[in-house]
Amino acid sequence: MILLDGKIASEAIKKDIAGEVSRWTLEWGKKPHLAAILVGDDPASQTYVRNKEKDCNQVGINSSVYRFSSDISKERLIECVKTINEDPDIDGLIVQLPLPAHFSEQEIIETIDPSKDVDGFHPVNVGRMVLGLPSFVPATPAGIVDLLQYYNVTTRGKECVIIGRSNIVGKPLANLLSRKGGVGDCTVTLCHSHTVDLAKVCCRADIVVAALGRPRFLKADMVKEGAVVIDVGISRVEDNTAKSGFRLVGDVDFEQVAPRCSYITPVPGGVGPMTRLSLLKNTLQAAIKRNKM
Ligand code: NAD
Repeated sequence: MILLDGKIASEAIKKDIAGEVSRWTLEWGKKPHLAAILVGDDPASQTYVRNKEKDCNQVGINSSVYRFSSDISKERLIECVKTINEDPDIDGLIVQLPLPAHFSEQEIIETIDPSKDVDGFHPVNVGRMVLGLPSFVPATPAGIVDLLQYYNVTTRGKECVIIGRSNIVGKPLANLLSRKGGVGDCTVTLCHSHTVDLAKVCCRADIVVAALGRPRFLKADMVKEGAVVIDVGISRVEDNTAKSGFRLVGDVDFEQVAPRCSYITPVPGGVGPMTRLSLLKNTLQAAIKRNKM
């Protein structure tokens, strides 16, 4: 069994990104710039945004955070998005999700300029991705593709079962892994909460991706001997032995499943660091495109 180590892969790829950022910064006389909008005081969202700032700093990308309290009006939030859309010094914009319940996330996402939508959530980018045109690809599926590529995992002709059909993970990943060439050419089955006999479906997969948000859901009897297993899930479970009182676990019962696998991602340290990397790649791409216009 080989561990698909997202920390190792992301650190290696991050060095390449930092090199590219520094070359472009010299040429343009300014750094790429990522803006994040953070609404409310959700601790997980605050941590994610802080990490994004840290990552940007590490590779030489400027970052700024626009913070609002959760009672901000829709109009004020849209005004902020539009101001950033028009700011020539900002290359990429993310609105940290989830937004407080009174917002329609889709409505806010659709106000982002697609050329700055480095999360790849705007319908223009989703549509372009599906058509195989250049686009920003959502961070987690893009990170999974990069991880498979880094470890030279063969995907062509493989049966891939993805559990979870969210717009940010399952659906775009199904699209990427079934596209022609590269880390693609898989025969993909996209499973969800209404899939009948999920264990049987999973057992025929050469590659299983668990992205459903149920701690340790995937058991050994759901995985074929020699399969590649990608664990996207991140759940907090109580752990009195940890200083924080909790620990992070994935959707895969790692101890049970790992001995059956050819490759498997750990949680933490698998898909998570690769997801963080994708945002940096997308921001650099956005900056390159804008500065060439
Ligand atoms: P989501 O809640 O939007 O979607 C979950 C999907 O799983 C749904 O399509 C649902 O139909 C399916 N599902 C739920 N229970 C099921 C069951 N018993 N059998 C089959 N399908 C079932 O989730 P999401 O936003 O895609 O996130 C999924 C998990 O991945 C969460 O734990 C989340 O924290 C994690 N996540 C991790 C990263 C990362 O960077 N590692 C990024 C995004 C999400």
